[in-house]
Amino acid sequence: MAIAKPVRALGLAAILMWCFFLYTIWRPSTPMGPGDSLKNLERDPNLDPTGEPEGNLVRVSPAYAPDANPSARINATLLALVRNEELQGMLQAMGDLERTWNHKFNYPWTFFNEVPFSEEFKKKTQAATKAECRYEVIPAEHWDKPSWINDDLYTESMKILKENDIQYADKLSYHQMCRWNSGLFYKHPALEHMQFYWRVEPKVHFFCDVDYDVFRYMQDNNKTYGFTINLYDAPKSIPTLWPETSKFIAQHPHYLHKNNALQWVTDKERRPSHNEQANGYSTCHFWSNFEIADMTFWRSQVYEDYFNHLDRAGGFFYERWGDAPVHSIALGLFEDKSKIHWFRDIGYQHIPFFNCPNSPKCKGCVTGRFTDGEAWLNKEDCRPNWFKFVGMG
Ligand code: GDP
Ligand code: MN
Repeated sequence: MAIAKPVRALGLAAILMWCFFLYTIWRPSTPMGPGDSLKNLERDPNLDPTGEPEGNLVRVSPAYAPDANPSARINATLLALVRNEELQGMLQAMGDLERTWNHKFNYPWTFFNEVPFSEEFKKKTQAATKAECRYEVIPAEHWDKPSWINDDLYTESMKILKENDIQYADKLSYHQMCRWNSGLFYKHPALEHMQFYWRVEPKVHFFCDVDYDVFRYMQDNNKTYGFTINLYDAPKSIPTLWPETSKFIAQHPHYLHKNNALQWVTDKERRPSHNEQANGYSTCHFWSNFEIADMTFWRSQVYEDYFNHLDRAGGFFYERWGDAPVHSIALGLFEDKSKIHWFRDIGYQHIPFFNCPNSPKCKGCVTGRFTDGEAWLNKEDCRPNWFKFVGMG
């Protein structure tokens, strides 16, 4: 009897440990927020990014490697629209991208601003990279509110947006920024001979070592657009974006690509109220603070016509159309969906969302975590719909 007690205690401990083990392997890796329609997505295997799917392909070609002949580099730049006051945030983002990727490839940086960059900004950003930095001022005709925007209507519209709690509603520069990023940046003379860009914002984070030339990957695999995060938008910022798009399609039905992602653009099952408030648009979009893309698409006749149609309709100012939904709708309708690539292997954060791969190459983010904000933010993930309608690419 004297040894029975310790044996029983040991047995109990073993059972408890076994239960804990079972719980850890059963527990879903991404906690989900409220919202019944999301329950069945918890086990979506696509939501557990597991590294570089193209890794082998990439490694066999010496042209992708960091030590490749510099002439193997392609026509591309890192690109940032940024204010002088955001210098510290820009240095932080640059530091991350240089450390994880660009010190191996030395692609140039091109900085844009509607006012000249300060000497301090130029000195400190250039000191953060071995690559060349270029500093460009945006011409007034690309930045100023266009002549056809009615000031009274603009002021009235801002009140409605504010009542609807639309962030940055009454900040004119935010509307200008969204319009420039939608349809003007690639028309800047400094980019005239440039084909690819990687958009970088101040304060973003990069977590994973990336050892291949992503621009070459885009070019050799015939990709137009690369994203990391795919979200729902605030429907009240874009009530007439889809109606205007529908008018445009009616006028140019031949512009629709036969292998388009229309289902992703117009889904109303997963978040019906978003589709309803956006008048037919799912609001799903590639989060454009990260973009790796081929400007050939933005420079095509179809995108030029689409942007001009939207620009004339005035929604960049009377509503708060973002460059993310505008780019995403255009890609979803007018581009071959197989040319859109999810960079699952690029660990990325722009507050409050992450793309955090499951890979030993990543440090500083929690594998598979989508947000470190409040739980309801998990509902904002639209990747499950991208995988459902388009796949992994
Ligand atoms: P959010 O990500 O939607 O909250 O918007 P941000 O404030 O991050 O702006 C998006 C990008 O545009 C960032 O790279 C900013 O630095 C840049 N940006 C926004 N407004 C202006 C502006 O008025 N002038 C300049 N030069 N850059 C701007
Ligand atoms: Mn931002």
